[in-house]
Amino acid sequence: MAKIPFTTGIGYDVHRLEKGLPCRLCGVDIPFEKGFVAHSDGDVALHALCDALLGASNLGDIGHLFPPSDPQFKGVNSLILLKVVAEKVQEAGFDIGNVDIVIIAERPKIAPHLGAMKETLASILGEEVQISIKATTNEKLGFAGREEGIASFATCLLVRQ
Ligand code: MG
Repeated sequence: MAKIPFTTGIGYDVHRLEKGLPCRLCGVDIPFEKGFVAHSDGDVALHALCDALLGASNLGDIGHLFPPSDPQFKGVNSLILLKVVAEKVQEAGFDIGNVDIVIIAERPKIAPHLGAMKETLASILGEEVQISIKATTNEKLGFAGREEGIASFATCLLVRQ
């Protein structure tokens, strides 16, 4: 079978919230009394996006590429991880068509930061990539509803070069 000209991928991530830690989503630092418990900066949106891109290019997953046991990724800005993933996707013979991210958070309010988030992602992925970022609450249900954690889903479409 000829290689398909387009591939899609899906990614999911969640990190626990604790008081007094930094809260960074899509590379943007958001003022909030809680932040992520994580080996890296805990940017769930970027981790979900990395996994979507790695899935669509069949290159494994983020935990395999950047093992949490590796001290060089301690506290790492996940934009650096996204840059590495985007380069690997290119090397594997794909251009990124679009990405679509959902952030599931009761608080903080994400909407005021969407513009900065999109600009930040465009600076890594390129201006030609269609970037969508959306946020929703969890209607106060479950861990996200109780503000114990924030989750994110992402999908993407890759175009074979
Ligand atoms: Mg993660």
